[in-house]
Amino acid sequence: MTIQDTIQQLRSELDQHNYNYYVLDQAQISDFEFDQKLKELQALEAAHPEFFDANSPTQRVGGAITKNFQTVVHDYRMYSLDNSYSKEDLVDWEIRIQKVLGDVPIEYTCELKYDGASISITYENGQLSRAVTRGDGFQGDDVTNNIKTIRSIPLQLKGDFPAHFAIRGEIILPFAGFEKMNQELIEIGETPYSNPRNTASGSLKLQDSSEVAKRPLDCLLYSLVGNNLPFQSQFEALQEARDWGFKAPKETKLAKNLDEVFEFITHWDTHRHELPYETDGVVIKVNALSYQDELGYTAKSPRWAIAYKFKSEQVSTELRSISYQVGRTGAITPVANLEPVQLAGTIVKRASLHNADQIEKLDIRVGDTVFVEKGGEIIPKIIAVDFAKRPVDSAITHYITNCPECQTILVRSEGEANHYCPNFYGCPPQIIGRIQHFISRKAMDIEGLGGETVALLYNNGLVHNYADLYDLTVEQVLPLERMAQKSAENLINGVAKSKDIPFENVLFALGIRFVGETVAKKLAKHYKTISALKNATFDDLILVDEIGERIAKSVLEFFENEENNLIIERLRFHGLQLEIVEKVNPNATTKFSGKTFVVSGVFEQFSRDDLKKTIEDNGGKVGSSISSKTDYVVAGDNMGPSKLEKATKLGITILSEESFSILLQN
Ligand code: AMP
Ligand code: ZN
Repeated sequence: MTIQDTIQQLRSELDQHNYNYYVLDQAQISDFEFDQKLKELQALEAAHPEFFDANSPTQRVGGAITKNFQTVVHDYRMYSLDNSYSKEDLVDWEIRIQKVLGDVPIEYTCELKYDGASISITYENGQLSRAVTRGDGFQGDDVTNNIKTIRSIPLQLKGDFPAHFAIRGEIILPFAGFEKMNQELIEIGETPYSNPRNTASGSLKLQDSSEVAKRPLDCLLYSLVGNNLPFQSQFEALQEARDWGFKAPKETKLAKNLDEVFEFITHWDTHRHELPYETDGVVIKVNALSYQDELGYTAKSPRWAIAYKFKSEQVSTELRSISYQVGRTGAITPVANLEPVQLAGTIVKRASLHNADQIEKLDIRVGDTVFVEKGGEIIPKIIAVDFAKRPVDSAITHYITNCPECQTILVRSEGEANHYCPNFYGCPPQIIGRIQHFISRKAMDIEGLGGETVALLYNNGLVHNYADLYDLTVEQVLPLERMAQKSAENLINGVAKSKDIPFENVLFALGIRFVGETVAKKLAKHYKTISALKNATFDDLILVDEIGERIAKSVLEFFENEENNLIIERLRFHGLQLEIVEKVNPNATTKFSGKTFVVSGVFEQFSRDDLKKTIEDNGGKVGSSISSKTDYVVAGDNMGPSKLEKATKLGITILSEESFSILLQN
């Protein structure tokens, strides 16, 4: 097999696995195996830029930056949909249709109305060529780089697809992914996103496609446009699209008549809450394309389709009290405690009030009757107060001025929505929250210790900060509730084991505000040691990739605090990793020092990365292209002919894998 064949085979294998996982929801291989194959392909592509392909699965990770999104005119206009709100509206719609088509039986395709951002994606000869936002319907923005990172969108089609067509759909953010993104934001003290739809649509306009790649976006497709497409109806079109590799939800039904349309609506009006993504209605389309052609369009929308909007479920209930929660970073969240009420299949007792501005805007008071709605979030929202039902003696809500947990006066920085309790070191939920963050999986990953035990340790006076964890003994924790000899030992062992956790995780674990996982990695890589980071000035910090003023200030503040520095010194004393450990190879030598190598092709014993590392461990340098400065080319199978020619011309020694090994031994 040639290199090109190997690359091609890896690409189609990876495409197929992406499809299995993201479209069919049926993984065939483990994440680990997938990553291995992807790495292999990345290495081959890096060594053979001549086989570059913009639609290779390696391009999914993003990286391309779009400074200005180009405006592109749609080949076919993207229309809106007329809305309907009742069965009568639909009956009227059918009457209007039959005025044009005559009194013929009409079949309809019923689809869910996905709530996201619409997109039009063009394919040329089975390759994704361009993705454009809806814009004003006539023209939109070219967001191709960002769209390619969405794993369920095929970059390369399969089966018997037309040479040229566009497909339209909705970019959505499923609830689970949205909640996870928000959880991560809350953890580092950032404001969470308000709903999945806006977050999905905002994601399309991010400049850095690798940021888009990190978001768990999905794309649900619903319409094909083009000339002479190989189907006669909407229902068939969706079936064909699935065969070519697209994700067109299976919650689609062919209805023989309006009664069957009503059945579909009734079913999904209640069952939509079980779907993993948000829907705000049903879209009903005349199934036969010949009928669609006859019906045509109004100025704004097709006559052959209509949206039926679900009534967003609202209930009214009484506000019993407002309580205030204190988060790990000291942020205060007001919570409405409601008279329990049934809403969209669950019993609602609480709703978020977000912040002081929201309370003021709603003019909400204890004793009020309020309207509650379930939107894109898991926690329901209060939409409005029913002023007609306000008790005459109700009192205006005054936002608390002191921390409910430690009584410290709250602060609110300019431009921030939330109030904070500034008593970083004395406010119990902040102390406990910080330790809980420290031990969490992505931070110190301490086995045998959970969030509840942390609270227990704190409440029993055994720990006051995360450094105290390293002083704990089995005897001390044994008397705690639900603690046995075995679990006490596990806890102490887990804490001890965490001393090997790498510096970047430790940095994240410290819980510096706005320093999330990614930022911690960047800082660790840049500064290498905690002392260097501590000595960094504001001007130094903002020069680091992705570090803005807000993060820089927060880092400075953290290290200005003496208490933090004492804690860090104690962590150092206990042997935690406070610097990046460059892995030293015990077999390292200097035998290649002063020599430059170029590595090309594929090898049997070594992976390309191993080979490069071996050269560097022995003092050699690895160059990226062959030049007069190159001393050796290590050539594997299928090294490109042009490289071989160049090396020969320059008189450079070409080593096979075997001769390289021999050179290494001697
Ligand atoms: P509206 O924005 O309320 O005018 O609704 C029209 C929009 O609904 C379209 O532009 C699409 O983005 C979106 N939509 C969601 N699901 C579907 C679907 N199954 N068929 C057609 N359009 C849909
Ligand atoms: Zn407090």
